[in-house]
Amino acid sequence: MSDTIERVKCLIIGSGPAGYTAAIYAARANMKPVLYQGTQPGGQLTTTNEVENFPGYPDGVTGPEMMMQLQAQAQRFDTDVRDGWVTKVDFSGDVHKVWVNDTKEIHADTVIISTGASAKYLGLESEQKYLKLGGGVSACAVCDGFFYRNQEVVIVGAGDSACEEAHYLSKLCKKVTMIVRRDEFRASKIMEARVRNTENIEILHNTETDEVLGDGQVVTGVRVFNNKTGEKHEIPATGFFVAIGHKPNTDIFKDFLDLDQTGYIINVPGSSKTNVEGVFVSGDAADHVYRQAVTAAGTGCMAALDAERYLASKDASFEVSTSTYN
Ligand code: NDP
Repeated sequence: MSDTIERVKCLIIGSGPAGYTAAIYAARANMKPVLYQGTQPGGQLTTTNEVENFPGYPDGVTGPEMMMQLQAQAQRFDTDVRDGWVTKVDFSGDVHKVWVNDTKEIHADTVIISTGASAKYLGLESEQKYLKLGGGVSACAVCDGFFYRNQEVVIVGAGDSACEEAHYLSKLCKKVTMIVRRDEFRASKIMEARVRNTENIEILHNTETDEVLGDGQVVTGVRVFNNKTGEKHEIPATGFFVAIGHKPNTDIFKDFLDLDQTGYIINVPGSSKTNVEGVFVSGDAADHVYRQAVTAAGTGCMAALDAERYLASKDASFEVSTSTYN
């Protein structure tokens, strides 16, 4: 247990585009935000090579570089960026209690949750090897599909995400092979029909990935097996996309916040408010639909503005700054 309890106006949990954008706005509004980075400082974007779809970077930017710039921008306005992993919360009272690394206790007037979501992977050694090398494994077609223009790619999964991403890839790539582990899709009928009606998408049912093949640097193909017959074969491909779902990083909030059945935090529509006053959510922790850096940043801004207005409503001496509305 901690000896001293720290009191903060605004605590931001998470260091992706949502968290840092919330920090920039909160700091400029004089809320003196404290931001805990979590176990993956910079969030999911640090596993991406090149980001070409974030406005303002005409030549693209690497994921890690963009996150360093966002951090620097938040610190320029005196955001207190700290290492640490929030392990427990108690949102049952007026004061929002948060524990960092199981020891340090913080009482926050407002909390902005920006803990993001993690893409699920198959867990194969070869998949993880090429993911870490940045050599052709991705969990985001919208982010990385462009790098595989006119090439052949494989995508795993049969939910709405896999269908949407396969369709997206089909417009860029020469051929898309969908690996579906059952004899039916999980996706909605309309999404399934869209991929079935796309000429350059081939669907392999009852099929699973045996190994991602490569030359030690980049992916060159995928060996798959039919789970009914055991028969194996190889598919040439330069990209291996995994679209088997995401897991929002929200477990520690489940006793206090309304979550949907997958674990996404349910926000009041059109705002960043949760069911607990003074607790706000931004980014992928509440978004299973868009999941983009730019939408995460946008909701980070919303959360900071909502938190600022909440503070002003509680404390007449806390003035809503005008600078944030410029
Ligand atoms: P889902 O959980 O819906 O689908 C996951 C898919 O991946 C399933 O086909 C599943 O197979 C497959 N899968 C899971 N694990 C493995 C594995 N180890 N090996 C091979 N395949 C595997 O996730 P989604 O991300 O597709 O969707 C999440 C939610 O978001 C859904 O509610 C969806 O409707 C929604 N969504 C909506 C969109 C829209 O409306 N535009 C777009 C994208 C998502 P199996 O079926 O055999 O379990």
